[in-house]
Amino acid sequence: MTRIAFIGLGNMGSGMAANQAKAGREVIAFDLSAEALKRAEEAGMKSASSVADAVKDANAIVTMLPAGKHVREVYETIIAHAPKDALLIDCSTIDVDSARTVARDASMQGFRAADAPVSGGTAAAEGGSLTFMVGCREQDFAEVEELLKPMAKAVIHAGASGAGQAAKICNNMLLGISMIGVCEAFALAERLDLDAQKFFDIASQASGQCWSLTSYCPSPGPVPAAPSNRDYEGGFAAAMMLKDLKLAQDAAETVGAGTPLGGAAEALYAELVQRGFGAKDFSFMLELLRGRAS
Ligand code: NAD
Repeated sequence: MTRIAFIGLGNMGSGMAANQAKAGREVIAFDLSAEALKRAEEAGMKSASSVADAVKDANAIVTMLPAGKHVREVYETIIAHAPKDALLIDCSTIDVDSARTVARDASMQGFRAADAPVSGGTAAAEGGSLTFMVGCREQDFAEVEELLKPMAKAVIHAGASGAGQAAKICNNMLLGISMIGVCEAFALAERLDLDAQKFFDIASQASGQCWSLTSYCPSPGPVPAAPSNRDYEGGFAAAMMLKDLKLAQDAAETVGAGTPLGGAAEALYAELVQRGFGAKDFSFMLELLRGRAS
């Protein structure tokens, strides 16, 4: 039986690891939080006492951690204690540099390593319907895909190490910018006495159409499943969007790419978070632009 060490059982990792256990795989879980470990045991996993303990006999190791510094730290232990034939997959959203560094360090010790950040929130993590963007060697992809299957709707090979993270931050920069554009349009429409539903009906069939408008409308009403209808609770937190926009700006600076709208989006999300709305869904940007986020 495949034995997976799963490190990081937070909002995303708990549901993802549970889907591996449901698929009949042996899951050894570790998190710094005792509460998270208790939930993992209740979901049919074994808990470990440390990262080293979790990985010592694993065939595969999946990490789902907050940021690059956590991944770099945990990988030091993994590289020192895991069997060399274990497949290492990091699903966290982190900076491209850290992703490439840990993959290089792991491969120098003989490991196969992949970065595989996800698109989709906690509902997709629980439902096993995440999209994975994978950076790894061509010859390792089939094995990575097989391992990720119980957690996935789609697994796409983006390229070599770091390419998964690059795809993730470019996509989320585009999403942050498009959401602000949609919010600005609704805020202006309101000032021009144009009904929000009417504007939606027109723009969703005109050239302004995009995912932020038609699947995730920031104005309550037109898209019933959107967080705007739940007082902007749940969904994708503004603070998470800010994290991804910062990663995109850092990467752009490193390679000298011009991303002026990405920079403006980062500044607007920083303002939203600084005003205390980091936990609200990122479509709450509409309230900032309406002058109501105070
Ligand atoms: P989270 O903070 O809920 O979970 C992270 C977990 O890692 C926590 O339980 C924490 O205790 C654990 N942890 C931290 N350091 C550790 C260590 N050294 N050893 C063991 N465990 C450790 O975060 P999350 O929402 O689950 O997000 C995880 C990653 O997924 C992030 O990189 C995030 O950007 C990305 N992501 C999140 C979402 C989302 O909607 N929440 C969507 C897509 C991607």
